[in-house]
Amino acid sequence: SNTSLTSDHAGDVRLSGITRNYGDFTAVHPLDLTVRHGAFFALLGPSGCGKTTTLRMIAGLETPTSGTVHLGDHDVTVLPPHKRPVNTVFQSYALFPHLDIYENVAFGLRRRGIKSVQKQVGEMLDLVQLGDFARRKPHQLSGGQQQRVAVARALVNHPKVLLLDEPLGALDLKLRRQMQLELKRIQTEVGITFVHVTHDQEEAMTMADTVAVMNAGHIEQLGSPADLYENPRTTFVANFLGTSNLIEARIDSRDGDVLVVVSGAATLRLPIDRCATSTARGGEVHVGVRPEKITLTHPDDAASIPEGRNRLTGRITATSFIGVSTQYLIDCPACPEFEVYAQNIERDARLVPGAEIVMHWNPVYTIGLSADQD
Ligand code: ATP
Repeated sequence: SNTSLTSDHAGDVRLSGITRNYGDFTAVHPLDLTVRHGAFFALLGPSGCGKTTTLRMIAGLETPTSGTVHLGDHDVTVLPPHKRPVNTVFQSYALFPHLDIYENVAFGLRRRGIKSVQKQVGEMLDLVQLGDFARRKPHQLSGGQQQRVAVARALVNHPKVLLLDEPLGALDLKLRRQMQLELKRIQTEVGITFVHVTHDQEEAMTMADTVAVMNAGHIEQLGSPADLYENPRTTFVANFLGTSNLIEARIDSRDGDVLVVVSGAATLRLPIDRCATSTARGGEVHVGVRPEKITLTHPDDAASIPEGRNRLTGRITATSFIGVSTQYLIDCPACPEFEVYAQNIERDARLVPGAEIVMHWNPVYTIGLSADQD
């Protein structure tokens, strides 16, 4: 049976200095992490970065090589999985094929010797909006519906923490998008802690209040989706969460709270508080800007560009219409594959492949990152 934990922060997850080695290989470097009760938390990173191993250490499916795991006030580091107030939903739904949906959800309760399961199973099927499907077998449901059954089956035991290991990985893109919103709704409704593992940045950004970006066994950066997107502190985070248009530059001088950096013929302004690396004069820095922060202006109209904006000139190499915006690829000397997503601009017939163009943006959107990294 589950450990009984009743305090308000019973759903806190606290990892202190946990590591995991496999022989000589360190899959997880010393890692500290606190997830607050009721949070929707995502572990995001590329294949092999250690996110599943981290999740499995919270579940008890993997023992840390060192460090401790706390759930609420309890040190659960050496507790087996079934003694922890957690449940895991995997990519493979692992439903019992011979049992109907109702019995799949009831299974955990019956195993614990609970006789009258009707109310709880009914509530769970309503929660995942499968009340009408109770008597179907798993093979009579779509992938998304089966995954909702798996969620209901995990939640019926009232865990304090639900762990989700790439739960939407087997679904097609459209269904994934629907299920992301669905899982978010379910989490808000039940109010328990969700820890969600994914390699899909859009999925993590859509669902989680807090995201830990993992790379090579450690956490690169932790924050809200907006914070990670607007204020990446490393090139890894900047590039993993979208396009960052990084340019190699050198710090030339300082003008109050702004660094003046030079890249080829261009001079750009980088606010000091947007620079995540050394601000010493002469130092190398990678400066970047998100594609949707940039405005495009034809050189004939360059006089209309307000003073004080960062500017680069280039030549359009490709355009593609993607609904809400048009994507432009621009070849500029400092950054051969500059990407711009221009939104809601009036169609300018001059903005076609081959055209010279002036790109400009408010300097506050410039980011400065260490030039020493990948
Ligand atoms: P994916 O998205 O591909 O599942 P991940 O970020 O979840 O990746 P993990 O599964 O945590 O990564 O694995 C982290 C690293 O540890 C990988 O390099 C993996 O090969 C290694 N690893 C995981 N389990 C074992 C094991 N049982 N024995 C040896 N190495 C392992």
